[in-house]
Amino acid sequence: MISNETRNIVRQRAKFSCEYCDVSETEAGGELTIDHFKPQSKDGSDEPENLIYACSRCNLYKGDYFPENYSVPNLWNPRKGSSEKHFILLTNGEMQALTKTGEFTILRLRLNRKPLVEHRRQKQLQTEETLLIARYQTLTELLMRLSQQQIELLEEQQKLLEAQRRLLNIFFDSETK
Ligand SMILES: [Zn+2]
Repeated sequence: MISNETRNIVRQRAKFSCEYCDVSETEAGGELTIDHFKPQSKDGSDEPENLIYACSRCNLYKGDYFPENYSVPNLWNPRKGSSEKHFILLTNGEMQALTKTGEFTILRLRLNRKPLVEHRRQKQLQTEETLLIARYQTLTELLMRLSQQQIELLEEQQKLLEAQRRLLNIFFDSETK
């Protein structure tokens, strides 16, 4: 039995997202499940070191897979290293394996399942859009500041021209005397 305390540690450590496929609680519409990396059926413990926060799909596909020896393919263990070592996210939303472990994990957990690929693609598009909007806002602010400086410069120029005219007047007045 996993205590509520352990459950919360696991959730927070995973930033409330599936550690295999990155779908968040918000996106899944509820809390996710807790996977025993070494299954309970194979004496896996309830210690946080053996626990992975996982969406129900990933948990289902992983099942009680656990390699007993090195001759069978390895499954990526999020506790033992970051995903960047094993996978790379392509712009079309698909995951591509960088290692044998990555390759096997994508197959076993079906990390390129259609709705997930579509979800990643949408997320990437949103990120791009957010970046574009932020750039637009920065540019607009910059332009406004430039216009303000331009107005100030024009006022300054006006004052200088008036001063110049006054000086010329004084000069001609003294000439004509
Ligand atoms: Zn998942």
